[in-house]
Amino acid sequence: MAFENLADRLQATFKKIRGKGKVSEADVKEMTREIRLALLEADVNFKVVKDFINRVKERAIGQEVLKSLTPGQQVIKVVQDELTELMGGEQSKITLASKPPTVIMLVGLQGAGKTTTTGKLANYLRKQYNKNPLLVAADVYRPAAIKQLQTLGKQLSMPVFSLGEQANPVDIAKQGLEQAKADHNDVVFIDTAGRLHIDENMMEELQNIEAAIKPDEIFLVVDAMTGQDAVNVAENFSERLDLTGVVLTKLDGDTRGGAALSVKAVTGKPIKFAATGEKLDALEPFYPDRMASRILG
Ligand code: GDP
Repeated sequence: MAFENLADRLQATFKKIRGKGKVSEADVKEMTREIRLALLEADVNFKVVKDFINRVKERAIGQEVLKSLTPGQQVIKVVQDELTELMGGEQSKITLASKPPTVIMLVGLQGAGKTTTTGKLANYLRKQYNKNPLLVAADVYRPAAIKQLQTLGKQLSMPVFSLGEQANPVDIAKQGLEQAKADHNDVVFIDTAGRLHIDENMMEELQNIEAAIKPDEIFLVVDAMTGQDAVNVAENFSERLDLTGVVLTKLDGDTRGGAALSVKAVTGKPIKFAATGEKLDALEPFYPDRMASRILG
């Protein structure tokens, strides 16, 4: 299960402090030391951990806690609040264009789950917002990526636009958008190519697509299982593209949690959706407060 180790460790730490009628500065220091180690072991970015611990310490040693009737519980609430804040605070909603079609571009490394997520998001928008999406297959490099999107389109009974593997991705995106306008699709998803590693050509191509179709949302699809690497990838992408959010995939796996806990603090981009399986309905909006509660038990 995701976050299992982190959850176990934090819960064990809280057990010691929960019922205390008095919380001393030494208690807080002991607690934050344990939290710090647990977060580092969960592969949370070093600097993110440091800032987090400083904030918790400052608040937990402050008046609001020490003067309260239940200081043990107050201290835990401070950690819960800060954990929620770390993952973005408020839930971040999807942006729909006031004048359709809404253009949503998905980017990320190969294997992160872009194509699958495209299908899931399209399914979600149809169900929740009654939208009528067009899926555009602009990943011309990964063998069978186009076919995969066409298969998803069939499963969902949604149209898929493709110009084959020889076409230029910028042209595919542009023509796909025109097609959507002509057919009155109110949302267009652009499934772009990923590489195994970030490279210059890939970034340039994505920037060219961005410039050509001016998306309302650019989602970076990130594999939660890859921890710190995922965060480095996110930092790279956000330097080159005007990302509007992150979709965290594979949260059904036994991820330690580093990506979920660091990506917002490192890139400034909120996690908007979380994917928890291979099925088309295994996607939900990401709620920082619920995730924090899940981790803290
Ligand atoms: P792309 O190269 O980024 O387009 O990645 P794909 O969409 O092809 O996904 C790569 C693999 O990850 C596929 O086998 C997907 O079924 C799988 N996958 C994607 N999202 C999830 C998820 O949330 N959970 C799990 N368990 N597998 C996922």
